[in-house]
Formats: sequence, structure tokens, C-alpha cells
Amino acid sequence: MSSSAGGGRGLVIISGPSGVGKSSICNAVLEREPRAVWSVSATTRPMRPGDQAGVSYEFIDGDAFSRREAGGQFLETAVYCGYHYGTPRPPVEQALAAGRIVIMEIEVQGAVQVAGKMPRSTRIFILPPTAESLRLRLEGRKSEREEQLAARLAKADGEIAFARDSGVYQHFVVNDDLEESVLRVLDIIRRETE
Ligand code: 5GP
Repeated sequence: MSSSAGGGRGLVIISGPSGVGKSSICNAVLEREPRAVWSVSATTRPMRPGDQAGVSYEFIDGDAFSRREAGGQFLETAVYCGYHYGTPRPPVEQALAAGRIVIMEIEVQGAVQVAGKMPRSTRIFILPPTAESLRLRLEGRKSEREEQLAARLAKADGEIAFARDSGVYQHFVVNDDLEESVLRVLDIIRRETE
């Protein structure tokens, strides 16, 4: 099967800065759209409170990541705040071939790679209503150590500027109200995959 199966129609990328509410949106979309399946990424970052191995991510070490990367097992990869992240390719291809909608929550560098390989994918960037709201959400989640939190906040402006300038994203959704954002994302997905 080619990596560009169907040009990536049915593949949905959700990106946005840390703390913007991507996971809440993705979880709600998965609950409400029966065709949707979640792409479980692999990462070298340590588990955080609330993470479930094999569900949120496959948590693997650097050697395993490098082996799989060298073996062409990832659709895309990126380094984010010092850790590796990658999307395992076979489950995505199998789900798309079966007519499912695949939801991937990945950062901007990975989205660029997928946009190149799968031009018919749907790429949505979630924006915070204000910069302050990001800081409050990240602090409230109490999952990152102080330096990780600062690193994630520092990345946000660059990610947002890149998302706007790169032309990679066809859709921008401001996450002011979670329910409204979920409805907008569902609407985009249904229009692009019907
Ligand atoms: P977190 O550590 O908060 O779970 O994720 C950090 C960042 O990595 C988020 O922006 C998330 O969307 C992104 N991410 C998660 N999995 C992947 C992946 O497989 N590939 C890429 N490129 N980014 C990912």
C-alpha cells in the first residue's frame, strides 16, 4: 500500500500550542464521530499524570525510536522540547484503507511532513483566545515541571506564527468555548470527508 493512500483523504491533523485544549477536542470528536479512530503516537518523553501507556502514546526509549525511524516505520517525526515524537505508519494506512477517519494530534513540523505526503488530509490548527489563557491552562494542569512549562509557553508564539505563515493549515479554530470548538471541528471533518 502506498503511503499516500487516497492522498490522505480521511486523515485529520489537529495541531495547536501546548495547553490550548487539543486533547479535549480530540476526545470529544472521537466520542461523537463513529467513523473516527485515534492515531497513537510513539514518544520518548516520560509519562505524565493522566497518561495511559498504549492509549495516549506508546512510551518508548531513544534506541527503540531510532530503530523504528530507520526502518521507515513512521509517517512523520518531530523533536519537541527535547523529546522525539512519531506517528506509526501502518495503523494509519490500514484505518484509511478501511474507510475510517484518522485523528492525529501532532505538532507543526510533523504536519508539514504529512501535508507533503498526504495532500488531501484535513489540517486544523487550534488557537487560544488569548496568550494568557494558555498560561493559565498549562499552570492549572500541573503536569509539567517548571522548566518544561516555560519551554512549552515559549514555543507557543513561534508555533502560531509558523502555522499562519506556512500555509499548511486549511482551518483555524479559536478554542474559546470547548463545545463550540468541538462542533466546528466536527463540521469541518464531516464536510471534508462526506
Ligand atoms: P505532549 O508531550 O504534550 O503530549 O505533546 C507535545 C507536542 O507533541 C504536542 O504539540 C503534540 O501535538 C505533539 N505530538 C504528539 N504526538 C506527535 C507525533 O506523533 N508527531 C508529532 N510531530 N507531534 C506529536
